[in-house]
Amino acid sequence: MIRVVGDSSKMCAQLLREVEEEVTDLLSGLIRINTTNPPGNEAKAAEYLAENLEKEDFTCELFESAPGRGSVITRIKGTGERPSLLLLSHLDVVAANPKEWSVDPFEGAVKDGFVWGRGAIDMKSMTAMEVMVMKLLKRNNVQPKGDIILAATADEEKGGEAGAGWLVRNHPERVRAEYVINEGGGLAIPINGKSIYTIQTAEKGILWLRIKAKGKPGHGSVPGVADNAILRMNKVVEKLGNYRSKISLVPTVRQFLSGIAKENKLAQQVLSILLQNPAAGDHILDMLGQRDKVMAEELRAMLRMTIAPTIIHGGVKENIIPSECEAVFDCRILPGQNPAEALKEIKGLLKDVDLEKLEFEIIQASEPSESTMDTPLYQQIVNVLKEFEPNGSVAPILLTGGTDSRFFRKIGSTCYGFQPMHADMPYGEILKTIHGIDERISTENLVFGTSVLYNIVERFTT
Ligand SMILES: [Zn+2]
Repeated sequence: MIRVVGDSSKMCAQLLREVEEEVTDLLSGLIRINTTNPPGNEAKAAEYLAENLEKEDFTCELFESAPGRGSVITRIKGTGERPSLLLLSHLDVVAANPKEWSVDPFEGAVKDGFVWGRGAIDMKSMTAMEVMVMKLLKRNNVQPKGDIILAATADEEKGGEAGAGWLVRNHPERVRAEYVINEGGGLAIPINGKSIYTIQTAEKGILWLRIKAKGKPGHGSVPGVADNAILRMNKVVEKLGNYRSKISLVPTVRQFLSGIAKENKLAQQVLSILLQNPAAGDHILDMLGQRDKVMAEELRAMLRMTIAPTIIHGGVKENIIPSECEAVFDCRILPGQNPAEALKEIKGLLKDVDLEKLEFEIIQASEPSESTMDTPLYQQIVNVLKEFEPNGSVAPILLTGGTDSRFFRKIGSTCYGFQPMHADMPYGEILKTIHGIDERISTENLVFGTSVLYNIVERFTT
């Protein structure tokens, strides 16, 4: 039994040391398998986990959506008296440039109490913790009342269509669960010496849009005769890039702001105005931005649909006025909105830019998603954290990016992003290492995360 709380025997310390070694080895091993996506090559990592689990009598299934794009699934069968729970993670990572790192990002080095490497936080550490939890459940002979499923999947960093999305479409019976625990939250935000643990309950949707502006070509020396597509696109970029859409407080964000406000006096003043009068949001965030720009802009993106121009192309030669110019926009929408409505709103903004000379193409779109906080699993997470850290608190969070949880919310699962971690480096520093340089996690955090997850899973399913 792995319990840090209430079980202070020597036996427990011994067990924790063993868990520390094992989960650290698992993570190091995973980091050493380079799953940079593209191309991914997650099959090797999936096989590595299957071998590890099968040594302890788990039956694993390996799936490949395309050659090399592997995912692994295993299950502890329950009696069906309680809801099923899926422990989800992704095996792929984003690229790392070894020249920028102080260690080889694919060596899985353990030094100074940390495991270093690409994926150490996002999210091979969670994979290692979840595998460890499964093994401990079996070793402790836990007989769950609900199925406990583990799925470590390919392709999340490129949208998940060759991983979680593919599994949900092609093998739903293997991964469907009433509840899902995944990435996206869990890192404690330190405020006034207290920790606020986040649980991701919502994420924004995506609308990636290509707009093509049309014109009439002509000689660059007589601009008035031609119709310059760059000038038309300039108006489009100006309109969309500076647009501040209506502010909307979704339940997760409302609850998140209340949670932060409880712990901090200044935040309380600022946020209570915001909570009472969302329309005043920008004014308040502009003021907050003078003290903490990153925080203010993060909050602003949680309050509304955003549109950012990200690519622009136009023109072929110095002296030709171009008849075409195209740009790509990364638009993110809130729960409650949908891509079709967002597109309509965007077209509405461009009414006076000659709509008939603009072409719209949706590159990719996905719905936003949100899970209710009012569930026994959410409460169980709160309860367990309270035992580990009586002074800490919990707040739900909306992710402005996306995770694989959206595939599961779509088929009716309640999903929580919860990868429990202390902020044992400065909070901002930790965030910078994710998709950045010198990504690492302390072995203490690995043990902490494993212990917290184990307690949640065991209590929730028995
Ligand atoms: Zn991730």
